[in-house]
Amino acid sequence: MKRIARGIVDEELIEDVGFGLYSAARAILIATEAHAGRVQCPRCSHIITHRGDRNAIIECAECSWRVRWGEYHKTYQDKHLHGGGAIPAFQGYIEDFTKARMPRERMLAIDRLIHFFHCELLQNPVRSVGVTLIYGKNTREVTEFLDRLSYGEASTPELIETRAAWDRKLELSQRYHPIRKPESNP
Ligand SMILES: [Zn+2]
Repeated sequence: MKRIARGIVDEELIEDVGFGLYSAARAILIATEAHAGRVQCPRCSHIITHRGDRNAIIECAECSWRVRWGEYHKTYQDKHLHGGGAIPAFQGYIEDFTKARMPRERMLAIDRLIHFFHCELLQNPVRSVGVTLIYGKNTREVTEFLDRLSYGEASTPELIETRAAWDRKLELSQRYHPIRKPESNP
């Protein structure tokens, strides 16, 4: 894949970013499924269906784990965990990352996910699901990762462009979802 150039990459950073994105993607998929009526049992992974009644008890048929739906819902609400149109990208990432054994393969999986955000940014900057990850603890690691790739020996014009898009995305996400101070109306 030409978007990632050959070069020395920091394997530790790939691990950090890769697993960070992996757990974020998993959380998004699990929350999206739960919201659609399919809760994955945290103990045995069995799928429990429900109808969204806050007071209903949902119980795993396999291991008897149980919770009130309203309580479960609280664990992810307000965390921006709605995958929306990015679901296939997250599923693809989880699949690719799980199969990847070498750092380079992991880097390619990360690159594909970041590339997806890049394309999504161009199409729909405001309601971007990338914001979900940007809000998370991955922000610093992802930007550091892109920095290494963009400004290191392995740099390519495509990577520099992706880095710039990522900066722009951070800027947009703060503009539309201000986290420090509300902006005055134009
Ligand atoms: Zn279970």
